[in-house]
Amino acid sequence: MKKLQLILPILIEKGHMQVFKFGGASIKDAEAVQNMMEILKRFPDEKIIIVVSAMGKTTNALEEILHLQLDGLSIETAIQNLFQYHASIISKLFHENEDTALHVLDNKFKALKIALNKVKKSRYDESYDSIISFGEMISSSILLDFLKQQGFSISQIDAKNCIRTDESFRDALVNWEKTKKSIRRAVHHEFSQHQLVITQGFLGGTVDGKTTTLGREGSDFTAAIFAYCTSAKAVTIWKDVLGILNGDPKKIKDAVLYQELSYQEAAEMTYYGASVIHPKTIKPLANAGIPMHVRSFSSPEKGGTIIHDCKIVHHIPCIIIKEKQSLITFKLTDFTFITEAMIGKIFEALNLHHIKINMMQNTAISFSICVNDDLHRLDQLMKELKNDFSIFYNKGLELVTIKNFDESLISRMTENKEIYLEQRTRKNYQVVLRESSV
Ligand code: ASP
Ligand code: MG
Repeated sequence: MKKLQLILPILIEKGHMQVFKFGGASIKDAEAVQNMMEILKRFPDEKIIIVVSAMGKTTNALEEILHLQLDGLSIETAIQNLFQYHASIISKLFHENEDTALHVLDNKFKALKIALNKVKKSRYDESYDSIISFGEMISSSILLDFLKQQGFSISQIDAKNCIRTDESFRDALVNWEKTKKSIRRAVHHEFSQHQLVITQGFLGGTVDGKTTTLGREGSDFTAAIFAYCTSAKAVTIWKDVLGILNGDPKKIKDAVLYQELSYQEAAEMTYYGASVIHPKTIKPLANAGIPMHVRSFSSPEKGGTIIHDCKIVHHIPCIIIKEKQSLITFKLTDFTFITEAMIGKIFEALNLHHIKINMMQNTAISFSICVNDDLHRLDQLMKELKNDFSIFYNKGLELVTIKNFDESLISRMTENKEIYLEQRTRKNYQVVLRESSV
């Protein structure tokens, strides 16, 4: 007899819920966590999926611990510091339940130590994900217990079981079909009983239960994945800036805030290196027409920036500075010209070593690329191509992109700088430069 298959419809109404993402800075200490709770209180009637990063600089600390362990050095002090950092947040947040919360933390650190005993240099990327993921597992667990204690109706979803990825550790690719199914199932189940659901940003998992990560700063992308899969009403990224500005306020003193941006404009800005949102975030939201807000967690009453479907006729110029750039020039020395076949060879090697070009240009006998300084990868690239080309190499440069440029901005950004490479299209200007030494 044919087996009867029961297909249960998963009822998720469009626009029924929203997604909030809280990054490391927004939960870096007890006061920040209290502030996060106050933000949640402003939305008493909303069903919210909360995506959290690791607290403060935990991800960097875990990277350091991993490297100490791989180099055979002592990890005790570093682990103790990271434990203390979380324990002191717990002590300030929890009163009668402090012991239980500390016990949970202790267990997480025991598991971390066990995982550290299994890392291998020869499987660096996989080891990386198995260790770095502890940051988000710890933060989400502390926040879940804290918000419960404060009377919120909240439960947790394990992102590792929901976001299905391949095995490209440290930069895993999402299997959208499987992810959508498991997210909808989990979210539907939790929201049938709770008002809020918390989950970990940045993490994913393979079919056979291995932990993966989506790339540094990938929690924004997680928020977009959850929003896309649940047809959420909106995504809000709570940040330490007022919204998206037309330049990094630490470097551009008169930076101004965008009230709104189109998906296209925002996606291009992330491509050129605007670090305010993770580059993969916009696409799923644009595909589903879900608006994204970027708002300040310290001024939650302000509107911030909205990224949505809109037509903006006149764009304010935007300055994006990418630091730690290298300019590599491949030259032919036998008086032959650069051919498509030669350029093809360079691209093949770039693809093989996962190196992304930020800018490129050719002359009769040379081909130049501007790429991120990644010593390990660039070394491999040059080894691969050294028999075909003479290779010249400049380190420690900056790539400045001005979208929708005007001449005065170009002069301002290039004044007293040593220029290595320059390019312009109708709308965009790009230059590779070095701060002048005089
Ligand atoms: N904790 C991870 C990182 O710092 C992911 C994130 O914060 O988005 O890269
Ligand atoms: Mg972070």
